Amino acid sequence: MLAGLYEGFADSPDVLKGPQRELTVVPILDIEIGGGDLAMMAGPCSVETEFQLMATASHLRRAGVRILRGGAFKPRSSPYAFQGHGLAGIKMLARARTEYGLAIITEVLCETDVPLVAEYADVLQIGTRNMQNFALLEAAARSGRPILLKRGMMATIADLLRSAQCILEFGNPHVLLCERGIRTFETAMRNTFDAGAIALLKLITHLPVIADPSHAAGHREMVPALARIAVAAGADGLLVEVHPCPMEAWSDGEQSLDFVGFDDMMLSLDPLLGLRKPSNTFSLQERRRRVSR
Ligand code: PEP
Ligand code: MN
Repeated sequence: MLAGLYEGFADSPDVLKGPQRELTVVPILDIEIGGGDLAMMAGPCSVETEFQLMATASHLRRAGVRILRGGAFKPRSSPYAFQGHGLAGIKMLARARTEYGLAIITEVLCETDVPLVAEYADVLQIGTRNMQNFALLEAAARSGRPILLKRGMMATIADLLRSAQCILEFGNPHVLLCERGIRTFETAMRNTFDAGAIALLKLITHLPVIADPSHAAGHREMVPALARIAVAAGADGLLVEVHPCPMEAWSDGEQSLDFVGFDDMMLSLDPLLGLRKPSNTFSLQERRRRVSR
């Protein structure tokens, strides 16, 4: 019987922390997400050109990033907007992966594309618009690839956890929960960043929690502040849009950081990472033991 904070999540039992499972660490290449270090996933919203992708990959690799993001299949709200290069974009990502030793995260839009995307990507991204596309969740889960599950823009935390529960139920334990902002009456930013959700998810679930400050903010000036808030709230990683020339981006340029902006953001995270690291290196059990001493 679940009590208090946990009550609303009774139908997602396997994602909740319990005596059986306190922490899930998701391995991606030689990286571990959820083990205490901040996992950085960065790159352009859309894969556009070989030059754009390689320049970004090269910069990010030098900045210490190990996971490159880039959309090849794009879920655009307008039918007239750039829809992504599809397979050609996936192949560009694969070249960046080989050239720079980066893991790749990219969105998969429908279940029939899962085998193709899973062949090249290290992490499958399920976008906000597809959080409750259960046929897609099943196909993605069965691919065996780790899955970054974005919170639906109109989904509650309980909805997010039910979708995560589905993925676990389909036999895939490697789920990364992603807060990317939700729709509220507030329109000053693209979405309302639910920092409390990050803290709550860290408290009640054993799954790693990733924050996407780019889609929450919608404006690059706000991205570093939201990234700092996410780190302070306990996020295990960040998914950030970076472009060599954001003004010329084919999608989401407004919210993309240029290389200097990205480096500055990373520097600004350092003090926060320094603060939280010691407690993160101990297990929950160990921390409880220390507190009760
Ligand atoms: C993206 O990551 O570029 C994207 C489309 O994200 P979301 O699904 O959060 O809108
Ligand atoms: Mn985007």
